[in-house]
Amino acid sequence: MENLWKEQPKEINMKTIEHKECVDLVIIGSGHAGTCAAREAAQLGASVIVIEQQNEEKQFILGMGEIGHINSKWQESHGVPKVDIDEFVEDWQKRTGNRSNYRLIRKYAKNCGETFDWFIEPLTEEEKNQIHPMFTPQSPNFPITLNGFHAYSGTPNMGPTLQNKAVKASQRIAKEHGARFFFETKACQLIKEENRVSGVIDK
Ligand SMILES: Cc1cc2nc3c(=O)[nH]c(=O)nc-3n(C[C@H](O)[C@H](O)[C@H](O)COP(=O)(O)OP(=O)(O)OC[C@H]3O[C@@H](n4cnc5c(N)ncnc54)[C@H](O)[C@@H]3O)c2cc1C
Repeated sequence: MENLWKEQPKEINMKTIEHKECVDLVIIGSGHAGTCAAREAAQLGASVIVIEQQNEEKQFILGMGEIGHINSKWQESHGVPKVDIDEFVEDWQKRTGNRSNYRLIRKYAKNCGETFDWFIEPLTEEEKNQIHPMFTPQSPNFPITLNGFHAYSGTPNMGPTLQNKAVKASQRIAKEHGARFFFETKACQLIKEENRVSGVIDK
């Protein structure tokens, strides 16, 4: 078996394991990505465990709440122009000298608007109204296209407080659908079978 570790971790004595669980999905880290994954997977009926090293109440969620995306219903209702997905992806590929993963970028471009609407769904209407689209309407001093590169205005700025509220609300929804969160728990070592990760040891 090929050893993929950069530094092989010290083996943990399996006799010291106090408790074992078997679930469909274990998520390490409950920041943006982990929380969204937990909410969606739990809502789809998967059994989910989330391991987060931080304290639940004091969890620091990274980000200033500027959630870049295109073509959400929220943007449409705030006067942000619709973006052509083909043009957007082409622009991205140009910027990255075709070094980015075209399929992944296209998937992002296609789904990010809907995902943003889903992300803010748990907020109240009053909270949603506090979010504002940046550079909208676009200033004539802020060129839409400069030297062939396009600028996409209308990124929602929700600030860290509302952003954290939305993430915490997603954690709540995930829990309501059966996801189990273990805060102040650190994932220490992944378990591999062949070259697939099949589990994790946490403390
Ligand atoms: C100052 C700052 C401002 C930013 N502002 C923006 C912005 O406005 N808009 C934007 O789009 N992006 C912004 N970003 C980037 C954005 O925050 C990140 O892209 C995003 O947080 C990545 O999400 P993630 O879930 O992948 O990782 P993270 O948010 O880093 O979440 C990882 C989680 O895993 C936990 N964890 C890590 N290791 C373990 C372990 N071994 N066991 C258990 N838990 C573990 C951590 O405690 C953490 O909660 C900003 C970043 C910074 C630093």
